[in-house]
Amino acid sequence: MFDKILIANRGEIALRILRACKELGIATVAVHSTADSDAMHVRLADESVCIGPPPARDSYLNIPALIAACEITGADAVHPGYGFLSENARFAEVLGHHGIAVVGPRAEHIRMMGDKIEAKRTAKRLGIPCVPGSEGGVSDDVEAKRVAAEIGYPVLIKAASGGGGRGMKVARTEDDLSDALATARAEALAAFGDASVYLEKYLEKPRHIEIQVLGDGRGRAIHLGERDCSLQRRHQKVWEEGPSPALNEAEREEIGNTVARAMQELRYAGAGTVEFLYEDGRFYFIEMNTRVQVEHPVTEMITGIDIVNEQIRVAAGAELSVTQDEVKLTGHAIECRINAEHPATFRPSPGLITYFHPPGGLGVRVDSAAYQGYRIPPNYDSLVGKLIVHGRTRNECLMRLRRALDEFIVDGIDTTLPLFRSLVRNPDVQNGLYDIHWLERFLAAEAAA
Ligand code: ADP
Repeated sequence: MFDKILIANRGEIALRILRACKELGIATVAVHSTADSDAMHVRLADESVCIGPPPARDSYLNIPALIAACEITGADAVHPGYGFLSENARFAEVLGHHGIAVVGPRAEHIRMMGDKIEAKRTAKRLGIPCVPGSEGGVSDDVEAKRVAAEIGYPVLIKAASGGGGRGMKVARTEDDLSDALATARAEALAAFGDASVYLEKYLEKPRHIEIQVLGDGRGRAIHLGERDCSLQRRHQKVWEEGPSPALNEAEREEIGNTVARAMQELRYAGAGTVEFLYEDGRFYFIEMNTRVQVEHPVTEMITGIDIVNEQIRVAAGAELSVTQDEVKLTGHAIECRINAEHPATFRPSPGLITYFHPPGGLGVRVDSAAYQGYRIPPNYDSLVGKLIVHGRTRNECLMRLRRALDEFIVDGIDTTLPLFRSLVRNPDVQNGLYDIHWLERFLAAEAAA
């Protein structure tokens, strides 16, 4: 096992990783920018190193500074969390050159899945069902028109290097296509430094359903069931739950086993998520994330498996602690991503938290690095914390979530708590009747009222 892990991240996920390290008896190193000197992950880690000024590119994305921090502290492994350098294959390679282990998959798998065209090609080869679309990138309008005519309108233009829901454009008719392509290419180049795009059939009313996987890197891989992340705003997840209200047991087993078999063939190492759109009883692969995800606690609550602990075990060369047969899904869990944003306009609201009271009680988990007197810096994402609630049934979970949301107090800044308080009371949400466009429609109706 490792002696010391450096956590190359901040916020709630840095705390989440610290917790797993502490339980395993592994010493921890926090890194932080000058904006984060008072952050909770710095306070709770055994050691900390300041790695640069507030902009992420100068601190949390600064590879030389992170390597230096490893060398100064003698850390033998790095956990990158999510975001920042977590899906940067070069970071994994550079750490390897310095003899430092990475808690994550091999660089080749990060690279393969980071290029969404290559990821789709790989998924297809491994027998995973994909959204109909172009075989690879589309280089010009003529080719795009040919592919679009073949799969049928509407089509979605997506950036090969895309992420965070950015760089996607819908074309409803052939007349829209040229303009949409040009915009998508320009946006992709600006956001990701890569103008390559590909085409997919645009699904009108799918759900977003994703499968959590764990692999040992030697050909054993298991799945931990699914999460339904259909409640999204601007393609960003807002509310995640598991199991999905839309799947039956046979569908769950079939897609889970398909994905687990594919990961066995890849000899995938560590935690990963294979994302699908689901419409009319069929699954369509969209991408794979080669890291721990924000919404991993949903799965932890229904399986009792500590996903970060498994990541660390595998990185240290140990076996997964569970077999597929031992994975049992129990009850229902829902996660709400509570952001420092206005609940209707979503305007970011960084600043001083004057009062902070997280909810508690049976089945309630709050993953947050916030505290009373903490000042949320304007430089990073706006996540204040995640509220995760577990119940024996979906109804019990909803009932518990309602009271936990009512109990949660965050003063001094705007948060999205009021949005969740209205979602948990909404009949469509209560009945699990929503697709990926539901939340945008709901917000538009609220704004008009
Ligand atoms: P990103 O890497 O930017 O998150 P994804 O490929 O994971 O991009 O897609 C993000 C979201 O965009 C999905 O959850 C879904 O809401 C929407 N989306 C992606 N592909 C399609 C599609 N073919 N049809 C309709 N919606 C899509």
